[in-house]
Amino acid sequence: MDYKISDNFKRNHFSCKCGKCNEAFKISLTLVGIIEHLRFKFNNRIHINRAYICGEESQFLFGNSKDYHHLGKALDFSIENTDIARCFEEVESMPEITGIGFVPQDNLIHIDIRDKEREIWLEERKEKIPFTPDKRKQYGINSVQQ
Ligand SMILES: [Zn+2]
Ligand SMILES: [Zn+2]
Repeated sequence: MDYKISDNFKRNHFSCKCGKCNEAFKISLTLVGIIEHLRFKFNNRIHINRAYICGEESQFLFGNSKDYHHLGKALDFSIENTDIARCFEEVESMPEITGIGFVPQDNLIHIDIRDKEREIWLEERKEKIPFTPDKRKQYGINSVQQ
């Protein structure tokens, strides 16, 4: 049961990939708008690694079902032929994106639209750490932290 959600994305891009829930699905249209903007801006294919996570999988991965993926408010992605540092800079310039995780090891970026103060972090060896000016420099981020 696949169908178009927007110009470049289908339901299956956003559905749960746990393999047990029959591809359950929930996605915020704000996020779809954001990802379409990035598709347009970089003019390259976007790989969505993870968007919605069903309740059981969320429970299994995080021990609760309160994560933003389960709420349909988060996705992890990369852009083909595009340095994730450039991608991060663009994402950071968009105030509607309130959670940003930079995950260089997996070559992906987590974004979410939490209703809270903005949080930006770096993930190294599966650990969330502050994305300090030194670390930003190390990973080639040119923009100034906002
Ligand atoms: Zn699932
Ligand atoms: Zn994520």
